[in-house]
Amino acid sequence: MARRKKKSYIFENIEVVDAAAKGKSVAKTDDGKVIFLTNAIPGDIVDIKTGKKRKSYFEGKAIKFHKLSERRAKPVCQHFGVCGGCKWQHMQYDSQLYFKEKEVIQNLKRIGHLELPEITPILGCKKQYFYRNKMEFSFAKKRWLTYEEIQKEEEIDRNNACGFHISGMWDKILDIEKCHLQEEPSNEIRNFVKNFCIDNNIEFYDPREQTGLVRTMMIRISSIGEIMLVIQFFADDIAKRELLLKAIADKFKNITSLQYIINNKGNDSIYDQDVMLFKGRDHIFEEMEGLKFKINAKSFYQTNSDQAYELYKITRNFAGLKGDELVYDLYTGTGTIAQFVAKNAKKVVGVESVPEAIADAKQNAKNNQIDNVDFFVGDMAKVFTKEFIEQNGKPDIIITDPPREGMHKKVVEQILNIAPKKVVYVSCNSATQARDLAILDEKYKITKTQAVDMFPQTHHVENVVLLEKR
Ligand code: SAH
Repeated sequence: MARRKKKSYIFENIEVVDAAAKGKSVAKTDDGKVIFLTNAIPGDIVDIKTGKKRKSYFEGKAIKFHKLSERRAKPVCQHFGVCGGCKWQHMQYDSQLYFKEKEVIQNLKRIGHLELPEITPILGCKKQYFYRNKMEFSFAKKRWLTYEEIQKEEEIDRNNACGFHISGMWDKILDIEKCHLQEEPSNEIRNFVKNFCIDNNIEFYDPREQTGLVRTMMIRISSIGEIMLVIQFFADDIAKRELLLKAIADKFKNITSLQYIINNKGNDSIYDQDVMLFKGRDHIFEEMEGLKFKINAKSFYQTNSDQAYELYKITRNFAGLKGDELVYDLYTGTGTIAQFVAKNAKKVVGVESVPEAIADAKQNAKNNQIDNVDFFVGDMAKVFTKEFIEQNGKPDIIITDPPREGMHKKVVEQILNIAPKKVVYVSCNSATQARDLAILDEKYKITKTQAVDMFPQTHHVENVVLLEKR
């Protein structure tokens, strides 16, 4: 039943029936209209308040829960519900996996209209918390207050937050006491830095006023226990900076790389900034199957190291290399997949648009004594041309791992032109993957497809597809 209020509707006693993209869930009105919900999970029975109807659907929130779903789990994190990070903590892990796999298959079928082979079940992650090797926290002079805090009568401290952006608000930071995404000493380091700054009058950044000192902090902890900490300052206050960095170095003797940045730009992206070394090395190492990868402050590396290993093994398996193949690794990043498959191939050619990543890739390959890889920098649509293939050889197998937007149409068409025996398509967005596969369908059939969960407690899912020539 729908009751209409000013510009909103109330629907009562509705069952939430499915999960939807971006971590939302789906309910249906009595007359079959879809309602997307932000705060309920499949199986809940709820009253819903929505905004006005969009073209063919509503967006709303559950305002009363009549029955809670059997798929529910108790969120472990005290920040759940306010922090935008791990939105699926209230769903049991096997249900998270069920809905992730379902989304991938639905996208391949509905967007790509693709014929699918037998589906290999999604690969879950052994570690369901503390699985990230990299975290970025922001400082803000004013703290985001939760609804409960505002309701309380007592005086509360509104100053100084170190944590995550409130979703969609560039200047609002939620203070984090304990985050469940990265192993210790991650929380210990963040809380120490925050408290030391408060106790020593080292001002937190104010994004609106463009004042203050400490701005962001990035912590990387590799699977072999090396730690990198990069503190970003807004202004160049030598005395306070030295005071803080020295205190950190004294307290955390096991930090491998302690670095800083002075960034007085409007935005806090570090990619165009100089990174200065305070103590230790300017990089840490990550290790995978005997390969070592050097990672500096700006390097890209898959954020879930253990599951990246699983993802790469599936990729290598799908490629089914015998040793005499020329392989292209498109969107190679720091050349990790290229190096991972190199010993099973005659040669691997990696292409990537970020010059620093390619510099790392070359350096890493050299350190790993891999000499059958070649790396090239440039925008894929411009580099991956007929001339490029004439120069580097026609690949027997293409591995491609594009960003969320998927591949440029020209790149997809070029793959069709070359028509290698096999294509292994690794994707972090099955919707754009499905779009690209629909074009490749002209010459290829999907012979394997396997989803991989790299990010438990979130709705994100990776999918690997093997294409073989028809
Ligand atoms: N395969 C790598 C990285 C995958 S992430 C790994 O597993 O670590 C996708 C990569 O595509 C990123 O490194 C990004 O810099 C790169 N990229 C994004 N757009 C690109 C483009 N237009 N041309 C070439 N590379 C691009």
